[in-house]
Amino acid sequence: MAKQREMFKKLLSLMLFVGVMVASVNLQEFTEDLTEDDPIIYERSSDIANEFAKEYIYFLKTGHESKSLKDLSSKLANMHTLKKLFTTSISDWETKDQFFMCTTCQAVVNIVVHMFRGEDGEFNGPNAQNNAKNLTLELCQRFQLQTGNVCSGLFDINWPTVHYIIMNSKADARSICGLLPISFCAIKQEEFDWSVEVDSKTGPLTKPKADKPQKTQNDLMILHLSDIHYDPDYKEGSLADCEEPLCCRNVDDRNISIDVGAGFWGDYRDCDAPKRLILNAFQHIRTQDQIDYIYYTGDIVPHNIWSTTEESNKEIITEIFDLLSKQFENIKVYPAIGNHEAHPANVFGNENVPTNMSSRWLYEHLWDLWSDWLPAEAKETILKGGYYTVTPRPGFRIISLSNMDCYIFNWWIYYNGNEISLPQLQWLHDTLLDAEENNEHVHILAHIPSGGKDCWPVWAREYNRIIERFSDVISGIFNGHTHKDEMLLHYSELGHPMAISWNGGSLTPYSYKNPNYRIYEIEPKTFQVVDHETWIFNLTEANEQNGLKSPRWFSEYHFSEFTDDLSPSGIDKWLNQMAENPDILQKFWSYKVTLADPNLSTGCNNKCLLNNICQLAVSANNRKERCEELQSILESNVSYALTQHVTRDSLLSVLSNA
Ligand SMILES: [Zn+2]
Ligand SMILES: [Zn+2]
Repeated sequence: MAKQREMFKKLLSLMLFVGVMVASVNLQEFTEDLTEDDPIIYERSSDIANEFAKEYIYFLKTGHESKSLKDLSSKLANMHTLKKLFTTSISDWETKDQFFMCTTCQAVVNIVVHMFRGEDGEFNGPNAQNNAKNLTLELCQRFQLQTGNVCSGLFDINWPTVHYIIMNSKADARSICGLLPISFCAIKQEEFDWSVEVDSKTGPLTKPKADKPQKTQNDLMILHLSDIHYDPDYKEGSLADCEEPLCCRNVDDRNISIDVGAGFWGDYRDCDAPKRLILNAFQHIRTQDQIDYIYYTGDIVPHNIWSTTEESNKEIITEIFDLLSKQFENIKVYPAIGNHEAHPANVFGNENVPTNMSSRWLYEHLWDLWSDWLPAEAKETILKGGYYTVTPRPGFRIISLSNMDCYIFNWWIYYNGNEISLPQLQWLHDTLLDAEENNEHVHILAHIPSGGKDCWPVWAREYNRIIERFSDVISGIFNGHTHKDEMLLHYSELGHPMAISWNGGSLTPYSYKNPNYRIYEIEPKTFQVVDHETWIFNLTEANEQNGLKSPRWFSEYHFSEFTDDLSPSGIDKWLNQMAENPDILQKFWSYKVTLADPNLSTGCNNKCLLNNICQLAVSANNRKERCEELQSILESNVSYALTQHVTRDSLLSVLSNA
């Protein structure tokens, strides 16, 4: 029996090997059947990457393109879902997109390190930039990634930073691509592991955080706005269904039919917010009875990541913060930075990187704009890294992070994650320790939710360690970035619910959303959220009026529709209720996508429900215990099989057809 199993294993590895080497292997069919956690995929991804890099370097050196290279290129190019790589969050990628990314990442880093780094780096030297650009454009076309214009723009603005990191980082291809939040791509990398010094006065949490917040007469009202993504070049009637990552802005698109033309108030497709949408939203917010503070959780600049400049980013950011300060004259705004504020987008160099590549210009500009709302002491940390703390009233502290330190598209974390990411988290810890000594309750603002796949698990792990130590002090966490009206529960090391991250959604309709804003009701003793109300309008309906009428904003829902216990323990119980009753989960999902027509017409199937229940319970993307528990409850409550587990039989049959 054991012998047979051994034989079977040998046969399987032989077939895997043959499968990789045989050029006619059908990658697409292979990846469609696999779940993302399958360890076998990484082996293949890595082998294919090595094969591709070897053939491609031969091609670069001789000009001769082998049949194997041609076949691998066209198979990889046909595998990914094109625009999705640029327009959707990595959390929403299909396994084949993840496979494509992991494989090409390893292949490209291999090629780049081989050709640029070291003594025999033939592409380095005075022509490095030209060589690299030609290489990028060739690969961009080979994998049919984006238009030449977008690839060229992305290269131009990212090259100085990327070149510096290639030449100076000690990371190799495996560890660089291992930082991608793709489970089968991840490997252990000691040089990228680090930890915060956490005060040890209290031990691990031994029970859930369960003090249920109660409504009072004196509750505070906090407006949560996020992800405005203001596009000054938005043009109604222009092409809304274009090839680039951002549409609705090209005035040269003439004679286009009405169904592909950008709407008057914005567009569900890959388009950002026109000025009139933002003005209209602010006007509507002004009709609300009471707003004590405003939280803005980042992303003001539009999604034209291939053509931003420092100047245009500064202008757009100034315009929006000026507007906020004029429209809400007597209300303090507490902002957090988003990944799009930087130029190049996503790339945040702190004080440890060479001055000409640091984000100091952005931090100085933001301090100019924010100083009306913030105390003078905030200046030091804002100029350092775009983060700060403030006490709006006795007993209540806000800590605003710039958590692009965890964002996997911020190239600097590949340079030296320890130097880039540790200082701010250590500051967060120290600030919370002071808050605890002063009996303060704390709200944390941060653009990127820690549980998302685009947040580096090492950062998320350390962040959660800090949250566990200070779960009594932290009363709420407020995020943006995903453009979805969602939330997540943080669990302690032993699995106790300890904190809630709320997500404010987005004002931009980019990625098929109705514009939304949210008002939290906060009880004034522990400053926990007692309820929230979300406001939206329907974009289809608004655009049908052709600008003759103002959009019809309406109260979409109160969170108390779901539960009146908004403590972490109460939310934990509610997650069970949703897993036991998928109808409630469906309702939660419809609000998550802000009842946007294109989403509602597609609906949320069982696989989508499983993903949704999981995301609610994951606060570091490699810790899935509670997610899996909820998924198995949900699976037993829906009518048919939900997952596509790969079986040995299906794997063998795919390989033997290769
Ligand atoms: Zn955004
Ligand atoms: Zn963002």
